[in-house]
Amino acid sequence: MPARYGMIAFDSAQHMDSWRKIMLTRFAPSPTGDLHLGHAYSAVLAHDVARRAGGQFRIRIDDIDGSRSREEFVGAALADLAWLGIGWDGDPLRQSARLGDYAAALDHLRARGLVYPCFCTRADIAASLSAPHGPSGAIYPGTCRDLPDSIREDHLVSRPHCWRLAMARAVAEVGEIGWEEVGQGMRVADPAAHGDIVLARKDAPASYHLASTIDDAMMGVTHVVRGADLIASTDVHRLLQALFGLPTPLYRHHTIVCGPDDKRLAKRDAAASLASLRAAGIDGTALAADLAAGRLPAGYSLQNP
Ligand code: GLU
Repeated sequence: MPARYGMIAFDSAQHMDSWRKIMLTRFAPSPTGDLHLGHAYSAVLAHDVARRAGGQFRIRIDDIDGSRSREEFVGAALADLAWLGIGWDGDPLRQSARLGDYAAALDHLRARGLVYPCFCTRADIAASLSAPHGPSGAIYPGTCRDLPDSIREDHLVSRPHCWRLAMARAVAEVGEIGWEEVGQGMRVADPAAHGDIVLARKDAPASYHLASTIDDAMMGVTHVVRGADLIASTDVHRLLQALFGLPTPLYRHHTIVCGPDDKRLAKRDAAASLASLRAAGIDGTALAADLAAGRLPAGYSLQNP
């Protein structure tokens, strides 16, 4: 049964059939800072595996967070990738141009009673004594899950709100789910451990989880290659795929580039930025070949998070 919402219809069987023929990977930077060696490693792995298989490699710009995304970082990221010798298929996809599809996806879950509006402030949640931590931070205590309809209707017009997934209901609908981690076999997904996650924020029309899951399917991504720091997100992405009837890509969560302090690189680590390496006269194509072979510049290392 194809999942339908808005203008998109995904026919899982048909989609699976075509993706078995053509491998498609993607690199999806958020334009909130300069790319660094860690991004380069991820982009090189995703690009090379597709090219070796005669497949496609696409770029997606994860710019739904309008307050943090900056246009200058989009151009800089594309220039960095070109410097590395990475070519991509088609035009980069902009998430900011796809908000209607995310809204339609949310409507689809709303119609099934799987999301609810949450009016809690950060302070409300922090003040809750019973908020244990899960893989994506504090687990929401469920305050707004079962509000009486009259209060909910009233708050909906008067208060800022986000939309949360009713996790227990969603998990009950899909049953046991998992994914294939390339080279390691099947992994069981544990979305319940994340609690009632946010799917649409007060200040952004979709969360990373919702937008990324919808877009990976819409782009026909067959293999998601990304850092192991994101492996917990896959619990949630698998659940959303199951709820929407989308196909499940294969996943490869790779080791993370760490700096001389053994910490994961951050966008503020200027020394590791690709712009500064380029300015220092480093050959981008040679760097990409080294990264592909797991060789990093002195002081940097690959580690499991
Ligand atoms: N924009 C996300 C990031 O930069 C992409 C994550 C992903 O590859 O799914 O972390």
